[in-house]
Amino acid sequence: MTDTESLKRRVRDTIDEHDEAILDLAKSVHAEPELGYKETETTRKVAEAFEGLGLDVETELAVTGARARAGGRNDADADTADAEDDEFVFAVLGELDALVNPGHPAADPETGACHACGHEAQLANLVGAAYGLVASGVVADLPGAVEFIAVPAEEYLDLEYRRGLLDSGEIEFFGGKQELIRRGYFDDVDCAAMIHAASDTPEREVSSDFSSNGFVGKTVQYEGRESHAGGAPEEGINALNAAMAGMNAVNANRETFADEDHVRVHPIVTNGGDGVNVVPADVRMESYVRAKSVDAIEDANGTTNRALESGAMAVGANVTIEDFPGYLPLRTDETLVTAFNGNARDVIGEDAVFGEHQHVTGSTDMGDVSQIVPSVHPWTGGFEGSAHSTEFGAVDEEMAYLLPAKVTASMVVDVLADPEKRAAVREAKAGKRSTDEYLEIVRRMRNTREAAYMGE
Ligand SMILES: [Zn+2]
Repeated sequence: MTDTESLKRRVRDTIDEHDEAILDLAKSVHAEPELGYKETETTRKVAEAFEGLGLDVETELAVTGARARAGGRNDADADTADAEDDEFVFAVLGELDALVNPGHPAADPETGACHACGHEAQLANLVGAAYGLVASGVVADLPGAVEFIAVPAEEYLDLEYRRGLLDSGEIEFFGGKQELIRRGYFDDVDCAAMIHAASDTPEREVSSDFSSNGFVGKTVQYEGRESHAGGAPEEGINALNAAMAGMNAVNANRETFADEDHVRVHPIVTNGGDGVNVVPADVRMESYVRAKSVDAIEDANGTTNRALESGAMAVGANVTIEDFPGYLPLRTDETLVTAFNGNARDVIGEDAVFGEHQHVTGSTDMGDVSQIVPSVHPWTGGFEGSAHSTEFGAVDEEMAYLLPAKVTASMVVDVLADPEKRAAVREAKAGKRSTDEYLEIVRRMRNTREAAYMGE
């Protein structure tokens, strides 16, 4: 048995010893769902687990959230440490927030919040990996440090509340990881890993080699002029017709989107008029514009805004289009994917890894993290039902809540213990965007475009 193998054995055995605490945490989080930037109880539960391991915990990272660092140099080593030998930091992440689906059997009766995306499994993975690496003492036997971060607000919703946080200056970004990046929490992180429950995958399977779309979000307001819809429509300016013409113009541009860019534009009308006998004068829409790369997002977004504006021009209305930063595309790191998959085969079984490299057209703010540090975001099984639906939930507790923690903690051991893997990750990191470059991109996505075609 090699040294690394025996370290991994200790880590996995220690997770087994703490299996009840890990399962209890997952169930407690599942039973008490909280929406993004409101996860105070969930943060407390994770922070308590970290404190129980003797770690120093920082909370309220961005409204909510908790982090703790284990291992690494202490002050006594500082004098002797080689200045060249920057400490390697491996971040393990878990998302705290729930989403809204009032029909879910575990939904909070008041808020409709529920864990229909399995984020309780991410926290079991986060805390489970902490038990494995810290309670075993293994982290002290490895070079480098592990940063455990419980991150707020991944689901992009409840936007009125977040708008309030934005207006009062408490946050700049709707996504919790974006906000943590802005606040410098990833500045000394070399790589990052989290897991995510896979949709409709009760099997003991994982899939880690994929990329995802990023997106820009938008609200659109068409302003027209009210008049009697039957008696005097000629005196009105129909904002709903402007919106429909705008949407048709978006559709007329779809053939210009290149297949390899995986563009998705999916507008909805959130207010189509107020009374049927009044020409609509205030019509609202929302949309995302998603694509595989930052360039493709910005290109498709420009096309979409031009098309939406044309609807106002067509009927002589006014339009205001407000764009706000969504999430950036996810890119997974080869070294981490290989390490995760190898350990998944060891821990779960030879056939545990499914799927070739694939591109998914949804989005996550782990994409933002992956733009600045090498990252892995594997899908893990043990859940049935379609994610976000009323049917979604864990059906195999060991697979959902315990095995991924063993795989994640073993991957951390593999990377920290192997100078070649650390070097490969560092090299990949050197090719990533800097935090400032990242912030420049997300900030330039925030835009307001106004066009007035209404005469006096
Ligand atoms: Zn999710």
